[in-house]
Amino acid sequence: MPRVLLLLPATSYRAKDFLDAARRLGVDVVVGSNHRQVLEPFSSGRSLSLGFEPNEQNISRIVAHARPYPVAAVVGTDEETTMLAAVASAALGLPHNSIKSVEAAHNKYRFRCVLAQAGIRSPWFRLVSLYDDLSETAKSLAYPCILKPLNLSASRGVIRADNEIAFLAACRRIAAILQQVPGATDAGHKNSILIERYIPGREVSLEGLLKDGNLNVLALFDKPDPLDGPFFEETLYVTPSRLSDGNQQEIFAETARAAGALGLRDGPIHAELRLNNTGAWVIELAARSIGGLCSRALSFAGDVKLEEVILRHALGFPEADLKREDRASGVMMIPIPAAGQLRSITGLEAARSCPGIDDVIISAHFGDWLVPLPEGDRYLGFIFAHAGKPDEVERALRTAHGRLDFEIAPAHASENKKVQL
Ligand code: ADP
Ligand code: CA
Repeated sequence: MPRVLLLLPATSYRAKDFLDAARRLGVDVVVGSNHRQVLEPFSSGRSLSLGFEPNEQNISRIVAHARPYPVAAVVGTDEETTMLAAVASAALGLPHNSIKSVEAAHNKYRFRCVLAQAGIRSPWFRLVSLYDDLSETAKSLAYPCILKPLNLSASRGVIRADNEIAFLAACRRIAAILQQVPGATDAGHKNSILIERYIPGREVSLEGLLKDGNLNVLALFDKPDPLDGPFFEETLYVTPSRLSDGNQQEIFAETARAAGALGLRDGPIHAELRLNNTGAWVIELAARSIGGLCSRALSFAGDVKLEEVILRHALGFPEADLKREDRASGVMMIPIPAAGQLRSITGLEAARSCPGIDDVIISAHFGDWLVPLPEGDRYLGFIFAHAGKPDEVERALRTAHGRLDFEIAPAHASENKKVQL
């Protein structure tokens, strides 16, 4: 039975879905996690404690572990783990995207450089150091612009600035976020911010699987809520897209070109694009699948889930039929309505009983401190729906959300609580 090394952060939402998929495929799993696993010596090689920085120490731990327990694939499950998966695969001689290509997708500045160089439609961009004279920088910019950290995800630290004052405030805010992020210490990530021209337009999200350099589109999601900033909290994802065939083909083609330019050839990709009257603009292309619990909105022929598609591909198994189910489907990442401590939720049963709703999952716990964007990086919960048409899915998600009420107690300034979800 082949064995797969799954890199799963302690805070991952995906552990159950990946482990279920592995079980379904009958493959052995080693969980590589930064969660301290006290029973590791007794786990017969099934668990491995490690950090996710792609450094010598973590790579040699993986290589040493793979001597008695050989693995057929190393799978990174989210942004935090993609780099280590690439570097460890190379060290073990396993097929994987090149380290260079994964690095180019992971580092937002490298990403912009590679796309612009390949002649792919790109916004004006520039890297600034927090040590620069930021007041001078602020004067030199055209507004509105977007500021973003180089290697965070889930829109954390992404801020729109409409003028010089907003730009300087956003720099301070991002600098504070970067101070809190472990692992962002390398190569200037902690001291750099990427500035991009703001691209107006409708946003979509594309879930794809690259096979030998060819893009297979698994799903295209519309994001029907306006994402104008200044922060970019994700809410609704609905598939199939209601965009015209022509628009969709353009989005597919631009995504494939971007993946090609980055040098990505295999495995899952998650891309975000904006569409306006000048065409489709790739905002992000990550060498991983969709985050949170959102993959539960996808189902393929034979009720195969996205995690199974990913594992099959990584292990070189006969591939699943990649046709998505016929019904429309969607997910709402429940917006965090306010900062504070989650005390209670009412309306859960009423939300769950809305027509079209499959489930409402609250991933935060009572007593947790909710932190909205741009600082936060945890979800409050997810609502899932199915229906015949995308409009009905969207309506069901909005109706269910409208039935939920959250009691959130604001933090008292004197308590100075720093706990996150
Ligand atoms: P992350 O990897 O943290 O999700 P992204 O680069 O995807 O960061 O940015 C998050 C969101 O911010 C995007 O989904 C988009 O809505 C918005 N955004 C990012 N860059 C731009 C841009 N240049 N113009 C307009 N909106 C942008
Ligand atoms: Ca994104």
